[in-house]
Amino acid sequence: MVKVAVNGYGTIGKRVADAVAKQEDMKVLGVTKTKPDFDAVIASKKFDLYAVNEQSLKVFEENGIEVHGTVEDLLKKADIVIDCSPDKVGAENKKIYEKFNIKAIFQGGEKKNVAEISFNSLANYNAAVGKRYVRVVSCNTTALCRLIYTLKENFKIGKIRATILRRVSDPKEDSKGLMNAIMPDPINVPSHHGPDVKTVIPDVDIVTAAFKLPTTLMHVHFLSIEMKEKINPSDVLTVLENEPRILLVSVGKGFTSTAKIIEYAREFRTRYDLFENVVWKESINVDGNDLFITQAVHQEAIVVPENVDAIRAMLNLSSKDESIEKTNKSLGIGKLSIV
Ligand code: NAD
Repeated sequence: MVKVAVNGYGTIGKRVADAVAKQEDMKVLGVTKTKPDFDAVIASKKFDLYAVNEQSLKVFEENGIEVHGTVEDLLKKADIVIDCSPDKVGAENKKIYEKFNIKAIFQGGEKKNVAEISFNSLANYNAAVGKRYVRVVSCNTTALCRLIYTLKENFKIGKIRATILRRVSDPKEDSKGLMNAIMPDPINVPSHHGPDVKTVIPDVDIVTAAFKLPTTLMHVHFLSIEMKEKINPSDVLTVLENEPRILLVSVGKGFTSTAKIIEYAREFRTRYDLFENVVWKESINVDGNDLFITQAVHQEAIVVPENVDAIRAMLNLSSKDESIEKTNKSLGIGKLSIV
């Protein structure tokens, strides 16, 4: 049993902890929190709770929430840590991981140089085997990598142009927002997503533009891909249908928007978590040499399976196919298709 520490129990950390707890070959040794809020109370009912430092340990004790020590006490006993702290804080936390000589997984809010490699399970699982520091790329980059890798394995693809319509914040983020506007973010091209995809799939030709929209539910990507061979939309559909981490939906079955996709997920998944890329079947079109695809991405959940697979790769526990199969089975990935 691999002993996993989760440092930072927010949007991603709580989901990663739940997913790790579902694996037969790993267990959550503990999770950390900064302050004794309601999330800390929930965390303490599910897992052993640790404070991020001595100061926060005191505050937990004063508030009567049971803590088992600081993050340092947790790291001493763990085999690997998944850093789920806010953007750029992971790079700071790396100093503690180095001190305790422990393997660490970082998230997409960190710069690529925080780790030895940037990771996506389908695209480069083997590159993470035995590594000490791995970065699971962001939600948008994860979705792009999965889709591009799947297409690239089956067809000869050329230049990709992707437009990324980003949810402005996660549902819980009451201090952030965008009430009545669409914000180019950034205004110039490319957005960071294209270069980030290349940290995982270096030989892909991609340019991305990104915009923030006043929604919290999902991101939407529109991709236009120059093909270097003649293809039929039905061939693309078959390839995507065969990849469990891609869920096909259709407008014909009522999936007219991200709101409907989330409504569907609410019936099947805790926190309506969609670990899969969600591709609209009708959006798969070919015009001459150009292939068009539109997908939706549940930002809070999509990186969760990659974090689980990264553990197996770094500790050399399973092959790529074995790990992906175990993770998919434990999280019910590949079971929601209704087209
Ligand atoms: P979050 O703010 O929801 O959670 C971060 C948690 O870390 C909070 O509970 C915070 O209290 C805690 N924390 C603060 N300082 C800490 C420290 N020094 N050590 C440990 N924990 C600390 O953030 P999030 O959305 O879960 O994002 C975490 C990482 O995942 C970021 O790199 C982010 O870019 C990435 N990511 C986020 C999303 C998303 O949509 N939310 C998607 C993919 C990747």
